Amino acid sequence: MRVKTAVSEMTREQFREVFGETLRVNEPLSRYTSARVGGPAELFLSINSAQELHQAVELAYNHKIPYFILGGGSNILVADSGITGLVILNRARTVNFRHNGLNVICTGESGMNLSSLARKCIAKGLSGLEWAIGVPGTIGGAVVGNAGAHGGDISSILLAATVWEPSHGIRVYTNEEMQYGYRDSILKRDQHKARTRRVVLSAELQLAPDSVEVLTARADAFTTRRKQTQPAGASMGSMFKNPENYYAGYLIETAGLKGFQVGNAHISEKHANFFVSDGDTNAEDIRSLIAEAWNSVREQFGVEMELEVELVGDWDFTK
Ligand SMILES: Cc1cc2nc3c(=O)[nH]c(=O)nc-3n(C[C@H](O)[C@H](O)[C@H](O)COP(=O)(O)OP(=O)(O)OC[C@H]3O[C@@H](n4cnc5c(N)ncnc54)[C@H](O)[C@@H]3O)c2cc1C
Repeated sequence: MRVKTAVSEMTREQFREVFGETLRVNEPLSRYTSARVGGPAELFLSINSAQELHQAVELAYNHKIPYFILGGGSNILVADSGITGLVILNRARTVNFRHNGLNVICTGESGMNLSSLARKCIAKGLSGLEWAIGVPGTIGGAVVGNAGAHGGDISSILLAATVWEPSHGIRVYTNEEMQYGYRDSILKRDQHKARTRRVVLSAELQLAPDSVEVLTARADAFTTRRKQTQPAGASMGSMFKNPENYYAGYLIETAGLKGFQVGNAHISEKHANFFVSDGDTNAEDIRSLIAEAWNSVREQFGVEMELEVELVGDWDFTK
């Protein structure tokens, strides 16, 4: 149930004039997150091109309303009370390829599904994204969080990202300017901001020609390993980043928390850094699991883990 509002009726009408009936009110976000958890968005807009994304975010910024870009919703935990302001679901999915000497540059709009793009590249005999074959979410989410797996990540293939910046407009960030680290970038550090986050419109990725058979075999091996090590249920992927010299999953498992349950959510038996929603789950229950894991690991090993998943929306941190 929503309590807070940030958008006046007049502003809502202005959005409706531009975006018509695609604008929705109090849209449940559990439909759009990989954990199938989360309350409603005060205003919700699904956009289909980088140009619409730009237009929507600029309109929100000019009207001083908070905005949140929702990619695949696979790295966020949305509060039960939802998100105040405008949530923009990014379905801008155009991609194109061009030769650049011996390499190929793929330019993808930020709402393109990363895993689908990886499959497309493999089918075209282009190497660089095989690691992403089982990583849910969009190019935008991956560029922000420096998604990676099996020794590869976005930072190793990103040439540039076209970004909309509050009060500045469109700017191209080079790889160096993204200041990439482990599941981190200059854009990820915008997390705490509600009205001035930068927005990735598109990204250029550098790929190299290779044999389709070799790439397919590599991707298949990654898929097999993922199936062996990760649970199949609704989750947000790894809940915590691996602390230096440790694996978060090992610490949580050794703290005795595999299978630990709160409400309809539990810590996976298969991989203790995956927190699984069993259906009709409250975000608060998952937050209780997070607190239990964090506190137990700190008490038993003196390690303070950092969340990889972002807590989004109107959380009551006094509880
Ligand atoms: C089963 C499972 C397995 C996973 N395995 C991996 C893995 O192996 N490696 C890995 O790195 N991750 C993994 N993840 C986590 C997740 O898939 C990645 O973090 C992914 O890159 C998130 O992308 P998204 O589009 O879903 O982002 P979202 O969850 O929608 O958003 C995450 C953050 O990025 C911001 N954002 C999204 N798009 C934009 C944009 N266009 N401009 C600005 N900000 C934006 C959002 O506002 C939010 O702050 C896994 C998740 C699941 C559920």
